[in-house]
Amino acid sequence: MRMLKDRIFLNGNVLTMELQPPHVSAFGVVGDLFGAVGSDTDVRHLHPPDSDIIDLKGKTVIPGLIETHNHLSDYAMTLMQIDCSTPVNRTLSDVVGRIREKAKETNRNEWIKGWGFDDTLIAEKRHLTRQDLDKASSENPVFIHHISGHLAYVNSRALQIASIESATPDPEGGKIHRDETGIPTGLLVEESAQALALKHIPVPAISDIKKTLQHAINHYHQYGITSVHDGSIGYYRDGPELLTAYRELESEGKLTIRIYATIIADLYESIYRIGLGTRFGSKFLKLGSVKLFQDGSIQALTAALKNPYLNRPGFHGHVLIPQGTLNALVKKYHEAGLQIAIHANGDRAIESVLEAIEKAYEAHPRQDHRHMIIHCQLASQDHVRRMNRAGVIPSYFINHIYYWGDRHIAEFLGRRRAQTLDPLGSTVKENLLFTLHSDCPVTPVNPLFSIYTAVNRITRKGEVLGETERISVDQALKSFTIQGAYCSFEERLKGSIAPQKLADFVILSDNPLTVHPSAIKDIRIEATVVGGRIVYGTY
Ligand SMILES: [Zn+2]
Repeated sequence: MRMLKDRIFLNGNVLTMELQPPHVSAFGVVGDLFGAVGSDTDVRHLHPPDSDIIDLKGKTVIPGLIETHNHLSDYAMTLMQIDCSTPVNRTLSDVVGRIREKAKETNRNEWIKGWGFDDTLIAEKRHLTRQDLDKASSENPVFIHHISGHLAYVNSRALQIASIESATPDPEGGKIHRDETGIPTGLLVEESAQALALKHIPVPAISDIKKTLQHAINHYHQYGITSVHDGSIGYYRDGPELLTAYRELESEGKLTIRIYATIIADLYESIYRIGLGTRFGSKFLKLGSVKLFQDGSIQALTAALKNPYLNRPGFHGHVLIPQGTLNALVKKYHEAGLQIAIHANGDRAIESVLEAIEKAYEAHPRQDHRHMIIHCQLASQDHVRRMNRAGVIPSYFINHIYYWGDRHIAEFLGRRRAQTLDPLGSTVKENLLFTLHSDCPVTPVNPLFSIYTAVNRITRKGEVLGETERISVDQALKSFTIQGAYCSFEERLKGSIAPQKLADFVILSDNPLTVHPSAIKDIRIEATVVGGRIVYGTY
Protein backbone atom coordinates (compact mmCIF):
# COMPACT_ATOMS: atom_id res chain seq x y z
CA MET A 1 0.00 0.00 0.00
CA ARG A 2 1.29 3.45 -0.91
CA MET A 3 1.67 5.59 2.19
CA LEU A 4 0.06 9.02 2.07
CA LYS A 5 2.63 11.78 2.01
CA ASP A 6 2.90 14.15 4.95
CA ARG A 7 1.53 17.60 4.25
CA ILE A 8 3.07 20.72 5.72
CA PHE A 9 1.26 24.05 5.94
CA LEU A 10 3.67 27.00 6.04
CA ASN A 11 3.59 30.79 6.20
CA GLY A 12 0.31 31.03 8.11
CA ASN A 13 -1.08 32.81 11.12
CA VAL A 14 -2.02 29.76 13.14
CA LEU A 15 -4.04 30.38 16.32
CA THR A 16 -3.40 27.12 18.15
CA MET A 17 -5.76 27.66 21.14
CA GLU A 18 -2.97 26.16 23.24
CA LEU A 19 -1.52 28.19 26.11
CA GLN A 20 1.99 27.71 24.69
CA PRO A 21 2.57 28.62 21.93
CA PRO A 22 -0.66 30.54 21.13
CA HIS A 23 0.57 31.57 17.66
CA VAL A 24 2.75 29.69 15.18
CA SER A 25 3.27 29.92 11.43
CA ALA A 26 3.23 26.26 10.45
CA PHE A 27 2.01 22.74 11.14
CA GLY A 28 2.16 19.33 9.58
CA VAL A 29 -0.56 16.77 8.91
CA VAL A 30 0.14 13.03 8.97
CA GLY A 31 -2.87 10.90 8.12
CA ASP A 32 -5.75 12.25 10.20
CA LEU A 33 -3.51 13.83 12.86
CA PHE A 34 -1.47 16.98 13.26
CA GLY A 35 2.28 16.42 13.00
CA ALA A 36 4.76 19.06 14.08
CA VAL A 37 3.49 22.51 15.08
CA GLY A 38 5.81 25.52 15.21
CA SER A 39 7.88 27.78 12.97
CA ASP A 40 8.23 27.13 9.22
CA THR A 41 11.80 25.93 9.78
CA ASP A 42 10.92 23.58 12.63
CA VAL A 43 8.01 22.03 10.79
CA ARG A 44 10.10 21.53 7.61
CA HIS A 45 12.80 19.81 9.67
CA LEU A 46 10.42 17.51 11.47
CA HIS A 47 8.67 16.15 8.35
CA PRO A 48 10.19 14.18 5.45
CA PRO A 49 11.75 16.28 2.65
CA ASP A 50 9.23 14.96 0.09
CA SER A 51 6.23 16.24 2.09
CA ASP A 52 3.61 18.18 0.15
CA ILE A 53 3.92 21.87 0.93
CA ILE A 54 0.95 24.19 1.20
CA ASP A 55 1.61 27.94 1.37
CA LEU A 56 -1.03 29.51 3.63
CA LYS A 57 -0.05 32.99 2.30
CA GLY A 58 -0.42 34.55 5.74
CA LYS A 59 -3.95 33.35 6.24
CA THR A 60 -5.36 32.62 9.68
CA VAL A 61 -5.95 29.02 10.76
CA ILE A 62 -7.96 27.99 13.83
CA PRO A 63 -8.90 24.56 15.19
CA GLY A 64 -12.12 23.04 13.80
CA LEU A 65 -15.15 24.59 15.47
CA ILE A 66 -17.12 22.55 18.00
CA GLU A 67 -20.82 23.35 18.39
CA THR A 68 -21.86 22.02 21.79
CA HIS A 69 -25.60 22.45 21.55
CA ASN A 70 -27.61 22.31 18.38
CA HIS A 71 -29.89 19.82 16.72
CA LEU A 72 -28.07 18.79 13.56
CA SER A 73 -30.46 15.92 12.90
CA ASP A 74 -33.58 18.02 13.57
CA TYR A 75 -32.14 20.70 11.32
CA ALA A 76 -31.66 18.02 8.66
CA MET A 77 -35.32 17.04 9.04
CA THR A 78 -36.40 20.68 8.56
CA LEU A 79 -34.79 20.55 5.13
CA MET A 80 -37.63 18.18 4.20
CA GLN A 81 -40.30 20.52 5.67
CA ILE A 82 -41.99 23.86 4.91
CA ASP A 83 -40.13 26.95 6.10
CA CYS A 84 -42.69 28.91 8.19
CA SER A 85 -40.17 31.38 9.65
CA THR A 86 -40.01 35.17 9.38
CA PRO A 87 -38.79 37.17 7.40
CA VAL A 88 -39.35 34.39 4.82
CA ASN A 89 -43.06 34.81 5.69
CA ARG A 90 -44.32 38.29 6.65
CA THR A 91 -47.96 37.53 7.42
CA LEU A 92 -50.11 34.61 8.49
CA SER A 93 -51.49 34.36 4.98
CA ASP A 94 -47.93 33.95 3.62
CA VAL A 95 -47.54 30.93 5.92
CA VAL A 96 -50.95 29.50 5.03
CA GLY A 97 -50.23 30.06 1.31
CA ARG A 98 -47.01 28.03 1.50
CA ILE A 99 -48.75 25.16 3.25
CA ARG A 100 -51.58 25.26 0.69
CA GLU A 101 -49.05 25.01 -2.16
CA LYS A 102 -47.46 21.99 -0.48
CA ALA A 103 -50.90 20.39 0.07
CA LYS A 104 -51.59 20.59 -3.67
CA GLU A 105 -48.69 18.25 -4.39
CA THR A 106 -49.23 15.97 -1.38
CA ASN A 107 -51.40 12.86 -1.34
CA ARG A 108 -54.66 13.03 0.59
CA ASN A 109 -54.26 12.13 4.25
CA GLU A 110 -50.47 12.44 4.07
CA TRP A 111 -48.99 14.61 6.86
CA ILE A 112 -47.54 18.02 6.04
CA LYS A 113 -44.85 19.33 8.37
CA GLY A 114 -43.44 22.83 8.78
CA TRP A 115 -41.15 24.61 11.21
CA GLY A 116 -39.94 28.00 12.35
CA PHE A 117 -43.20 29.93 12.92
CA ASP A 118 -42.63 32.89 15.27
CA ASP A 119 -45.72 34.57 16.73
CA THR A 120 -43.70 37.57 17.88
CA LEU A 121 -42.22 38.32 14.45
CA ILE A 122 -45.21 37.67 12.18
CA ALA A 123 -47.16 40.87 11.30
CA GLU A 124 -50.34 39.80 13.18
CA LYS A 125 -48.31 38.97 16.33
CA ARG A 126 -50.36 35.96 17.32
CA HIS A 127 -50.22 32.17 17.27
CA LEU A 128 -51.55 30.08 14.39
CA THR A 129 -54.92 28.42 15.01
CA ARG A 130 -56.46 25.28 13.61
CA GLN A 131 -58.82 27.56 11.61
CA ASP A 132 -55.82 29.26 9.94
CA LEU A 133 -54.34 25.88 9.07
CA ASP A 134 -57.70 24.49 7.89
CA LYS A 135 -57.59 27.19 5.20
CA ALA A 136 -54.40 25.58 3.90
CA SER A 137 -55.80 22.05 3.94
CA SER A 138 -58.76 20.24 5.41
CA GLU A 139 -57.73 16.88 3.97
CA ASN A 140 -54.07 16.70 4.90
CA PRO A 141 -53.16 16.69 8.58
CA VAL A 142 -50.80 19.64 9.20
CA PHE A 143 -48.17 19.95 11.96
CA ILE A 144 -46.13 23.18 12.27
CA HIS A 145 -43.37 23.70 14.82
CA HIS A 146 -42.87 27.05 16.54
CA ILE A 147 -39.33 28.45 16.20
CA SER A 148 -38.63 27.55 19.85
CA GLY A 149 -39.55 23.88 19.29
CA HIS A 150 -41.56 24.07 22.52
CA LEU A 151 -44.86 24.84 20.78
CA ALA A 152 -46.59 23.34 17.75
CA TYR A 153 -49.74 24.02 15.76
CA VAL A 154 -52.03 21.48 14.11
CA ASN A 155 -55.14 21.73 11.93
CA SER A 156 -58.53 20.11 12.52
CA ARG A 157 -57.67 17.01 10.48
CA ALA A 158 -54.59 16.42 12.66
CA LEU A 159 -56.60 16.92 15.86
CA GLN A 160 -59.09 14.36 14.55
CA ILE A 161 -56.42 11.77 13.67
CA ALA A 162 -54.73 12.29 17.06
CA SER A 163 -58.12 12.13 18.84
CA ILE A 164 -57.43 15.41 20.59
CA GLU A 165 -60.84 16.65 21.75
CA SER A 166 -62.36 18.84 24.43
CA ALA A 167 -62.46 15.87 26.78
CA THR A 168 -58.79 14.90 26.22
CA PRO A 169 -56.83 15.61 29.41
CA ASP A 170 -53.54 17.55 29.26
CA PRO A 171 -50.61 15.11 29.27
CA GLU A 172 -48.04 15.43 32.07
CA GLY A 173 -45.67 18.34 31.44
CA GLY A 174 -47.70 19.54 28.44
CA LYS A 175 -50.82 21.47 27.59
CA ILE A 176 -53.51 21.30 24.92
CA HIS A 177 -54.41 24.95 24.47
CA ARG A 178 -58.21 25.50 24.43
CA ASP A 179 -60.61 28.34 23.69
CA GLU A 180 -63.06 29.66 26.30
CA THR A 181 -65.51 26.86 25.47
CA GLY A 182 -62.85 24.20 26.03
CA ILE A 183 -62.30 23.29 22.36
CA PRO A 184 -58.63 22.72 21.37
CA THR A 185 -57.30 25.68 19.36
CA GLY A 186 -54.63 23.63 17.59
CA LEU A 187 -51.78 24.94 19.79
CA LEU A 188 -49.86 22.15 21.57
CA VAL A 189 -47.50 23.20 24.36
CA GLU A 190 -44.32 21.23 25.14
CA GLU A 191 -43.18 17.84 23.95
CA SER A 192 -45.72 15.61 25.72
CA ALA A 193 -48.66 17.45 24.09
CA GLN A 194 -46.92 17.50 20.67
CA ALA A 195 -46.31 13.77 21.00
CA LEU A 196 -50.08 13.15 20.87
CA ALA A 197 -49.96 14.24 17.21
CA LEU A 198 -46.36 13.33 16.38
CA LYS A 199 -46.88 9.66 17.14
CA HIS A 200 -49.16 9.48 14.09
CA ILE A 201 -46.55 10.92 11.70
CA PRO A 202 -44.48 8.23 9.99
CA VAL A 203 -40.69 8.39 10.53
CA PRO A 204 -38.87 8.91 7.18
CA ALA A 205 -36.94 5.98 5.68
CA ILE A 206 -33.33 5.63 6.88
CA SER A 207 -32.07 6.15 3.31
CA ASP A 208 -33.90 9.53 3.19
CA ILE A 209 -32.60 10.47 6.64
CA LYS A 210 -29.03 9.73 5.50
CA LYS A 211 -29.41 11.91 2.41
CA THR A 212 -30.79 14.86 4.32
CA LEU A 213 -28.17 14.43 7.10
CA GLN A 214 -25.45 14.75 4.48
CA HIS A 215 -26.95 18.02 3.23
CA ALA A 216 -27.12 19.32 6.78
CA ILE A 217 -23.54 18.24 7.53
CA ASN A 218 -22.27 19.99 4.39
CA HIS A 219 -24.11 23.12 5.49
CA TYR A 220 -22.38 22.97 8.89
CA HIS A 221 -18.98 22.54 7.22
CA GLN A 222 -19.53 25.85 5.37
CA TYR A 223 -19.38 27.52 8.78
CA GLY A 224 -16.18 25.79 9.87
CA ILE A 225 -17.86 23.22 12.10
CA THR A 226 -16.05 19.92 12.49
CA SER A 227 -17.73 18.53 15.65
CA VAL A 228 -21.23 18.80 17.07
CA HIS A 229 -23.21 17.72 20.05
CA ASP A 230 -26.49 16.65 18.45
CA GLY A 231 -28.72 18.08 21.16
CA SER A 232 -31.63 15.76 21.89
CA ILE A 233 -31.73 12.57 19.85
CA GLY A 234 -34.92 10.70 20.73
CA TYR A 235 -36.93 13.88 21.46
CA TYR A 236 -39.09 12.82 18.54
CA ARG A 237 -39.82 9.21 17.72
CA ASP A 238 -37.06 9.08 15.11
CA GLY A 239 -34.20 8.64 17.63
CA PRO A 240 -33.31 5.00 16.80
CA GLU A 241 -33.47 5.73 13.04
CA LEU A 242 -31.21 8.78 13.44
CA LEU A 243 -28.60 6.81 15.36
CA THR A 244 -28.79 4.07 12.73
CA ALA A 245 -28.40 6.63 9.94
CA TYR A 246 -25.31 8.14 11.61
CA ARG A 247 -23.82 4.69 12.17
CA GLU A 248 -24.41 3.65 8.54
CA LEU A 249 -22.94 6.91 7.22
CA GLU A 250 -19.88 6.32 9.38
CA SER A 251 -19.35 2.78 8.16
CA GLU A 252 -19.69 4.00 4.56
CA GLY A 253 -16.99 6.64 5.21
CA LYS A 254 -19.53 9.41 4.62
CA LEU A 255 -19.76 10.84 8.12
CA THR A 256 -17.51 13.89 7.84
CA ILE A 257 -18.49 15.62 11.08
CA ARG A 258 -17.78 14.27 14.56
CA ILE A 259 -21.04 13.55 16.38
CA TYR A 260 -21.42 13.53 20.14
CA ALA A 261 -24.92 12.14 20.55
CA THR A 262 -26.88 13.79 23.34
CA ILE A 263 -29.73 11.38 23.89
CA ILE A 264 -33.07 11.87 25.57
CA ALA A 265 -33.43 10.03 28.90
CA ASP A 266 -36.09 7.54 27.75
CA LEU A 267 -33.97 6.30 24.85
CA TYR A 268 -30.73 6.40 26.88
CA GLU A 269 -32.30 4.11 29.51
CA SER A 270 -32.25 1.20 27.08
CA ILE A 271 -28.70 1.99 25.99
CA TYR A 272 -27.09 2.25 29.40
CA ARG A 273 -28.97 -0.77 30.71
CA ILE A 274 -26.84 -2.89 28.38
CA GLY A 275 -23.67 -1.28 29.69
CA LEU A 276 -22.99 1.47 27.15
CA GLY A 277 -22.68 5.10 28.15
CA THR A 278 -21.01 8.48 27.77
CA ARG A 279 -17.78 8.38 25.68
CA PHE A 280 -18.50 5.00 24.08
CA GLY A 281 -17.93 5.07 20.33
CA SER A 282 -15.46 6.08 17.67
CA LYS A 283 -13.64 9.22 16.53
CA PHE A 284 -16.72 10.15 14.49
CA LEU A 285 -19.67 8.90 16.52
CA LYS A 286 -19.83 8.80 20.29
CA LEU A 287 -22.53 8.39 22.88
CA GLY A 288 -22.69 11.65 24.78
CA SER A 289 -24.77 13.00 27.61
CA VAL A 290 -28.25 12.06 28.73
CA LYS A 291 -30.62 14.94 28.04
CA LEU A 292 -33.26 16.24 30.43
CA PHE A 293 -35.47 19.34 30.21
CA GLN A 294 -36.40 21.45 33.22
CA ASP A 295 -38.24 24.24 31.39
CA GLY A 296 -39.09 25.57 27.94
CA SER A 297 -38.05 28.82 26.28
CA ILE A 298 -38.39 32.46 27.31
CA GLN A 299 -39.87 33.54 23.97
CA ALA A 300 -42.59 30.88 24.19
CA LEU A 301 -43.25 31.98 27.82
CA THR A 302 -42.50 28.43 28.92
CA ALA A 303 -39.22 29.16 30.76
CA ALA A 304 -39.48 28.96 34.57
CA LEU A 305 -38.68 32.42 35.96
CA LYS A 306 -38.31 33.67 39.54
CA ASN A 307 -40.01 36.98 38.69
CA PRO A 308 -43.01 37.21 36.35
CA TYR A 309 -42.84 37.81 32.61
CA LEU A 310 -43.08 41.46 31.67
CA ASN A 311 -45.90 40.84 29.19
CA ARG A 312 -47.85 38.43 31.41
CA PRO A 313 -48.01 39.90 34.92
CA GLY A 314 -48.14 37.32 37.68
CA PHE A 315 -47.04 34.49 35.36
CA HIS A 316 -43.68 32.83 36.06
CA GLY A 317 -43.79 29.77 33.81
CA HIS A 318 -43.33 26.26 35.20
CA VAL A 319 -40.55 23.81 35.83
CA LEU A 320 -41.23 20.60 33.91
CA ILE A 321 -40.08 17.96 36.41
CA PRO A 322 -41.08 18.06 40.10
CA GLN A 323 -37.97 18.71 42.25
CA GLY A 324 -38.04 15.34 43.99
CA THR A 325 -38.27 13.48 40.67
CA LEU A 326 -35.49 15.56 39.12
CA ASN A 327 -33.24 14.95 42.14
CA ALA A 328 -33.80 11.21 41.81
CA LEU A 329 -33.19 11.18 38.03
CA VAL A 330 -30.01 13.24 38.28
CA LYS A 331 -28.72 11.06 41.12
CA LYS A 332 -29.42 7.90 39.12
CA TYR A 333 -27.61 9.04 35.97
CA HIS A 334 -24.80 10.65 37.97
CA GLU A 335 -24.18 7.42 39.85
CA ALA A 336 -24.39 5.42 36.62
CA GLY A 337 -21.39 7.42 35.36
CA LEU A 338 -23.28 9.24 32.64
CA GLN A 339 -22.76 12.87 31.73
CA ILE A 340 -26.00 14.82 32.10
CA ALA A 341 -27.07 17.79 29.97
CA ILE A 342 -30.09 19.61 31.32
CA HIS A 343 -32.04 22.24 29.44
CA ALA A 344 -32.78 25.23 31.71
CA ASN A 345 -33.40 28.80 30.49
CA GLY A 346 -35.11 30.57 33.38
CA ASP A 347 -33.47 31.39 36.73
CA ARG A 348 -35.94 29.18 38.60
CA ALA A 349 -35.20 26.20 36.34
CA ILE A 350 -31.43 26.78 36.67
CA GLU A 351 -31.76 26.84 40.45
CA SER A 352 -33.76 23.63 40.41
CA VAL A 353 -31.12 21.91 38.24
CA LEU A 354 -28.31 23.14 40.47
CA GLU A 355 -30.06 21.77 43.53
CA ALA A 356 -30.38 18.35 41.89
CA ILE A 357 -26.74 18.25 40.75
CA GLU A 358 -25.42 19.52 44.10
CA LYS A 359 -27.38 16.84 45.95
CA ALA A 360 -26.17 14.07 43.62
CA TYR A 361 -22.60 15.34 43.89
CA GLU A 362 -22.78 15.45 47.71
CA ALA A 363 -24.12 11.91 47.89
CA HIS A 364 -21.63 10.60 45.34
CA PRO A 365 -18.69 12.97 44.78
CA ARG A 366 -17.76 11.74 41.30
CA GLN A 367 -15.05 14.02 40.00
CA ASP A 368 -15.01 15.14 36.41
CA HIS A 369 -18.67 14.43 35.62
CA ARG A 370 -18.84 17.46 33.26
CA HIS A 371 -22.61 17.83 33.60
CA MET A 372 -23.90 20.71 31.49
CA ILE A 373 -26.70 23.25 31.81
CA ILE A 374 -27.95 23.93 28.31
CA HIS A 375 -28.96 27.55 27.44
CA CYS A 376 -28.52 28.75 31.05
CA GLN A 377 -29.72 32.17 29.95
CA LEU A 378 -30.89 33.72 33.20
CA ALA A 379 -28.04 32.43 35.36
CA SER A 380 -27.28 34.84 38.22
CA GLN A 381 -23.84 35.59 39.66
CA ASP A 382 -24.67 33.21 42.48
CA HIS A 383 -25.62 30.47 39.99
CA VAL A 384 -22.27 30.96 38.22
CA ARG A 385 -20.42 30.48 41.53
CA ARG A 386 -22.49 27.39 42.36
CA MET A 387 -21.83 25.90 38.91
CA ASN A 388 -18.13 26.40 39.48
CA ARG A 389 -18.21 24.68 42.88
CA ALA A 390 -20.20 21.70 41.55
CA GLY A 391 -18.13 21.33 38.36
CA VAL A 392 -21.06 22.19 36.07
CA ILE A 393 -20.48 23.60 32.57
CA PRO A 394 -22.90 26.23 31.29
CA SER A 395 -23.50 26.29 27.54
CA TYR A 396 -24.99 29.69 26.77
CA PHE A 397 -27.51 30.38 24.02
CA ILE A 398 -25.68 33.56 23.06
CA ASN A 399 -27.50 34.08 19.74
CA HIS A 400 -30.57 35.09 21.76
CA ILE A 401 -28.94 38.47 22.39
CA TYR A 402 -29.13 39.26 18.68
CA TYR A 403 -32.28 37.40 17.61
CA TRP A 404 -34.55 38.06 20.64
CA GLY A 405 -32.67 40.78 22.58
CA ASP A 406 -35.03 43.61 21.59
CA ARG A 407 -38.09 41.52 22.43
CA HIS A 408 -36.52 40.48 25.74
CA ILE A 409 -36.30 44.20 26.61
CA ALA A 410 -39.76 45.21 25.35
CA GLU A 411 -41.87 42.09 25.79
CA PHE A 412 -40.56 39.19 27.87
CA LEU A 413 -38.13 40.36 30.57
CA GLY A 414 -37.66 44.13 30.66
CA ARG A 415 -34.34 45.91 30.27
CA ARG A 416 -32.76 45.16 33.65
CA ARG A 417 -33.18 41.38 33.42
CA ALA A 418 -32.46 41.30 29.67
CA GLN A 419 -29.03 42.87 30.27
CA THR A 420 -28.05 39.95 32.50
CA LEU A 421 -28.93 37.29 29.90
CA ASP A 422 -26.10 34.90 29.06
CA PRO A 423 -23.67 36.34 31.64
CA LEU A 424 -20.41 35.58 29.82
CA GLY A 425 -18.38 38.34 31.48
CA SER A 426 -19.34 37.09 34.95
CA THR A 427 -18.53 33.53 33.90
CA VAL A 428 -15.06 34.50 32.70
CA LYS A 429 -14.45 36.49 35.92
CA GLU A 430 -15.39 33.42 37.96
CA ASN A 431 -12.98 31.38 35.83
CA LEU A 432 -15.73 28.91 34.97
CA LEU A 433 -15.38 26.90 31.76
CA PHE A 434 -18.31 27.54 29.38
CA THR A 435 -19.38 27.12 25.77
CA LEU A 436 -21.64 28.98 23.35
CA HIS A 437 -24.19 27.57 20.94
CA SER A 438 -26.78 28.32 18.26
CA ASP A 439 -29.42 25.69 19.13
CA CYS A 440 -29.80 25.36 15.32
CA PRO A 441 -32.45 25.19 13.84
CA VAL A 442 -33.78 27.60 16.51
CA THR A 443 -31.20 30.12 15.22
CA PRO A 444 -28.94 29.66 12.18
CA VAL A 445 -25.76 27.73 12.89
CA ASN A 446 -22.71 30.00 12.46
CA PRO A 447 -20.05 29.99 15.18
CA LEU A 448 -18.36 33.16 13.88
CA PHE A 449 -21.70 34.93 14.25
CA SER A 450 -22.06 33.57 17.80
CA ILE A 451 -18.51 34.75 18.57
CA TYR A 452 -19.38 38.18 17.13
CA THR A 453 -22.46 38.28 19.39
CA ALA A 454 -20.50 37.22 22.49
CA VAL A 455 -17.96 39.96 21.82
CA ASN A 456 -20.40 42.75 20.87
CA ARG A 457 -23.77 41.78 22.44
CA ILE A 458 -25.61 43.79 19.79
CA THR A 459 -29.33 43.18 19.22
CA ARG A 460 -31.07 43.06 15.87
CA LYS A 461 -32.03 46.74 16.31
CA GLY A 462 -28.42 47.65 17.07
CA GLU A 463 -28.56 48.10 20.84
CA VAL A 464 -25.75 46.86 23.11
CA LEU A 465 -27.38 44.54 25.65
CA GLY A 466 -25.38 44.05 28.87
CA GLU A 467 -22.09 45.77 28.08
CA THR A 468 -20.28 44.33 31.13
CA GLU A 469 -21.08 40.77 30.02
CA ARG A 470 -19.10 41.07 26.77
CA ILE A 471 -16.02 38.87 26.43
CA SER A 472 -12.84 38.97 24.34
CA VAL A 473 -12.52 37.33 20.93
CA ASP A 474 -9.91 34.94 22.32
CA GLN A 475 -12.26 33.82 25.10
CA ALA A 476 -15.09 33.30 22.61
CA LEU A 477 -12.83 31.36 20.22
CA LYS A 478 -11.67 29.09 23.06
CA SER A 479 -15.29 28.34 23.93
CA PHE A 480 -15.82 26.98 20.40
CA THR A 481 -12.59 24.97 20.30
CA ILE A 482 -10.64 23.65 23.28
CA GLN A 483 -13.47 24.25 25.77
CA GLY A 484 -15.91 22.62 23.37
CA ALA A 485 -13.64 19.55 23.23
CA TYR A 486 -13.61 19.42 27.03
CA CYS A 487 -17.41 19.02 27.05
CA SER A 488 -17.08 15.63 25.33
CA PHE A 489 -14.00 14.54 27.37
CA GLU A 490 -11.89 14.97 24.21
CA GLU A 491 -9.60 17.88 25.08
CA ARG A 492 -6.57 15.60 24.60
CA LEU A 493 -7.86 14.44 21.23
CA LYS A 494 -8.99 17.68 19.56
CA GLY A 495 -9.90 21.34 20.11
CA SER A 496 -6.44 22.82 19.53
CA ILE A 497 -3.68 22.67 16.94
CA ALA A 498 -1.10 20.50 18.66
CA PRO A 499 1.01 17.44 17.69
CA GLN A 500 -0.91 14.13 17.64
CA LYS A 501 -4.32 15.75 17.91
CA LEU A 502 -6.97 15.17 15.24
CA ALA A 503 -6.22 17.39 12.23
CA ASP A 504 -9.51 19.31 12.32
CA PHE A 505 -8.96 22.92 11.28
CA VAL A 506 -10.41 25.90 9.48
CA ILE A 507 -8.75 28.44 7.20
CA LEU A 508 -10.23 31.93 7.53
CA SER A 509 -10.20 34.96 5.21
CA ASP A 510 -9.21 37.25 8.12
CA ASN A 511 -7.86 37.17 11.63
CA PRO A 512 -10.71 37.42 14.16
CA LEU A 513 -8.27 38.71 16.79
CA THR A 514 -7.33 41.78 14.75
CA VAL A 515 -10.36 42.70 12.56
CA HIS A 516 -12.75 45.29 13.95
CA PRO A 517 -15.11 43.49 16.39
CA SER A 518 -18.09 44.38 14.18
CA ALA A 519 -16.45 42.54 11.25
CA ILE A 520 -16.00 39.14 12.92
CA LYS A 521 -19.32 37.95 11.49
CA ASP A 522 -18.15 38.83 7.96
CA ILE A 523 -15.01 36.66 8.04
CA ARG A 524 -15.28 33.96 5.37
CA ILE A 525 -14.51 30.30 5.87
CA GLU A 526 -12.06 29.42 3.09
CA ALA A 527 -11.64 25.76 3.96
CA THR A 528 -12.83 23.28 6.56
CA VAL A 529 -10.68 20.22 7.17
CA VAL A 530 -11.73 17.18 9.23
CA GLY A 531 -9.11 14.57 10.07
CA GLY A 532 -6.83 15.97 7.37
CA ARG A 533 -9.53 15.75 4.70
CA ILE A 534 -11.01 18.86 3.04
CA VAL A 535 -14.78 18.85 3.54
CA TYR A 536 -15.46 22.41 2.40
CA GLY A 537 -13.64 24.97 0.24
CA THR A 538 -10.04 24.78 -0.93
CA TYR A 539 -6.55 25.69 0.18
ZN1 LIG B 1 -31.82 22.68 21.98
